[in-house]
Amino acid sequence: MGTRAHLEFWYDDQLAHTRSTEQHIADIVNEMKRLDSAMSPYIESSELSLVNRQAGKQEVVITEELFSLLQVAQKLSKLSKGAFDITYASLGYRYDYRNKIRPDSQVISESLASINYQSIQLDSTKLTVKFTNPNVKIDLGGIAKGYAIKRCIDLLKNKGIEHALMSAGGDTLLLGDRRGRPWMVGIKHPREDDKNVVHLPLNDEAISTSGDYERFFIEDGIRYHHIINPKTGDSAREVVSVSVIGSDATIVDALSTTAFVKGLGDGMKLINSLKGYEAIIIDNKHRLHFSNGLQQ
Ligand code: AMP
Ligand code: MG
Repeated sequence: MGTRAHLEFWYDDQLAHTRSTEQHIADIVNEMKRLDSAMSPYIESSELSLVNRQAGKQEVVITEELFSLLQVAQKLSKLSKGAFDITYASLGYRYDYRNKIRPDSQVISESLASINYQSIQLDSTKLTVKFTNPNVKIDLGGIAKGYAIKRCIDLLKNKGIEHALMSAGGDTLLLGDRRGRPWMVGIKHPREDDKNVVHLPLNDEAISTSGDYERFFIEDGIRYHHIINPKTGDSAREVVSVSVIGSDATIVDALSTTAFVKGLGDGMKLINSLKGYEAIIIDNKHRLHFSNGLQQ
């Protein structure tokens, strides 16, 4: 998934004899590898790559797992009126942040028509996906890390483990507490890699941070980064960091990307309208903003 993952867990002696710690860790590593090989756009044999090659021509039967993730993505697209849109990739794959390559304005204007989540047709009886526009490509980068850590924490939970922290990139999911105290999760300083701007005590919750510092290059003083506004085809620049807190790791992952695209006003409004979700937004003047439930 092109990012660093971190795992911590505790368990009682009772469980220790059923499987060793090393085996628990190996199971998590295998699960991450399984998800990467299914959902990576960089792996040709991944299910996602197969969909991108074929769904523009015909209906493609997919796994229940990918199908339900696509359903979640579609739900978020509707909720955000297209700010979250996995078809951003129709243009998004033209960006290469490592090699400082970006599409020119002509390519952007040609590709914008292919960014439209409504071109994705899902059939839940047949478990198929089809793109009504042959130029559509999809990418799950805005949602897959959240889903992956959820799967990993579920795996530990099913073995009877009750205290764990798993993170991948900017996404973290907590199971239980940290030996009687809350876990402390830091929100990164957007411009100083080794600094945090906020520390939050959290239990049994997910937090996802989307930042313009994760994947980017700077050209003529302008930062081109990996979160794309589907309406303009350019990087979203009203804010520099959005963290969303809530119970479901997949949803908070999608919501942090969504609120980033929407910007401070609309992004915060969206989070405040959703029960059970909170946000911390850092705007492009590096000022901190908190959602209603975090005001006190
Ligand atoms: P995150 O770090 O969770 O905000 O995810 C950023 C990733 O989401 C990017 O690297 C892209 O793979 C993907 N992405 C970028 N723009 C969008 C968008 N407008 N809607 C959905 N996914 C996006
Ligand atoms: Mg996200």
